[in-house]
Amino acid sequence: MTKSSELFARAQKRIPGGVNSPVRAFRNVGGEPWFVARGEGARIWDVDGNEYVDYVGSWGPAILGHAPKVMVDAVRDAATRGLSFGISNPLEVEMAELICEWVPSIEKVRMVNSGTEATMSCVRLARAFTGRDKIIKFDGCYHGHADPLLVKSGSGALTHGHASSAGVPRAFADLTISLPFNNAELVKKAFQENKNQIAAVIVEAIPANAGLYFPRDNFLSALREECTRNGALLIFDEVITGFRVARGGAQEIYGVMPDLTALGKIIGGGLPVGAFGGRAEIMDQLSPDGSVYQAGTLSGNPLALAAGLTQLRELERINGWKLLEHLGLHLEELARAAIKDAKLDVTFHRLGSLFCLFFAAGPIHDLAGAQTSDLKMFTKFFWGCLKRGVYFAPSQFETGFISTSHTPGDIQRTGTVVRDVLAEL
Ligand SMILES: *Cc1c(COP(=O)(O)O)cnc(C)c1O
Repeated sequence: MTKSSELFARAQKRIPGGVNSPVRAFRNVGGEPWFVARGEGARIWDVDGNEYVDYVGSWGPAILGHAPKVMVDAVRDAATRGLSFGISNPLEVEMAELICEWVPSIEKVRMVNSGTEATMSCVRLARAFTGRDKIIKFDGCYHGHADPLLVKSGSGALTHGHASSAGVPRAFADLTISLPFNNAELVKKAFQENKNQIAAVIVEAIPANAGLYFPRDNFLSALREECTRNGALLIFDEVITGFRVARGGAQEIYGVMPDLTALGKIIGGGLPVGAFGGRAEIMDQLSPDGSVYQAGTLSGNPLALAAGLTQLRELERINGWKLLEHLGLHLEELARAAIKDAKLDVTFHRLGSLFCLFFAAGPIHDLAGAQTSDLKMFTKFFWGCLKRGVYFAPSQFETGFISTSHTPGDIQRTGTVVRDVLAEL
């Protein structure tokens, strides 16, 4: 019996499903999950001593790779001065200034402890600011697990949604409209059918939680126009894309300014963090200045901010975005050549350090397209790569993450593994 399977047996007795977040249970690929012992750079080791090149990177935060010395030093240094106070600390001001400088749509920002808290707070703020209750989201976009956002489309999608989780009251789901991504016509119709009722449109500007696909020409600017015309707020969930796809996130790439932005993952460098920010007149509705309540015992935690600030500054110092594009392009070239030679219907998507392989002919530009992927093929691909020491996310409906610690040699080796595995499918 491996140490991993022994731990998993114990975990299943005391932790629901044996995991603290469902995707870790490997249910989408079958088999048992393994337990990690440590990581360094682009490598991780399981508790049985097996080594992998990691393309999950903690689902996004580890953009510099695992345990980079500058960050470990910064966290250690902060820790010696105290773990948490519940009193304002200087790092909060530094982080707020950095976020506002790098993301011009953000004039004021508040720190929270997860992406879920960030999107949840954006929705509450938008409802208060507009005096309206309904929100529009998109199928396949994930915004954490707050009640108003665990909703998918059903019949009558233009007027109300269906809870995608048990325990979400019907009355809450009725206030959320979930539409297919990349269909601006339906957004327009939903606004017409719910006149003066829509508080906000929330969207992953680059959806990276159902595989990875991209907004079509003008989709994001159409959302901007519809929101402005109808007096609703546009919320970009940049929990994955913020500071990853560009210094100013997806909004910099597409040139569309949201009213509010949710951030997370990278800004905590692997410690639990989220943030949300936007136009000052909206953010000023938060207590203590305004009437929208929002708070957090650990918000602005000095360890998390030391990790996050150090990571962001290091990323800028080494021009990480250019390096990531370079590494991403290298992986893309190898993967495309391997796909071509394997003569398989595979759609490869990439933007900078984000990438995804769908086992479908494509084109894929929404959840329905992503769901055409052959999941049996994906499962074989996943295990084939894992056996050869390359760890991709254990689900088709996730995205691959490259870090600045991946070396050209790691990428080359990954390309060879992908080639060998695809050839065997
Ligand atoms: C991960 C994620 C969230 C939720 O963040 P948590 O820190 O897991 O609560 C929200 N939105 C997007 C786009 C994410 O990828």
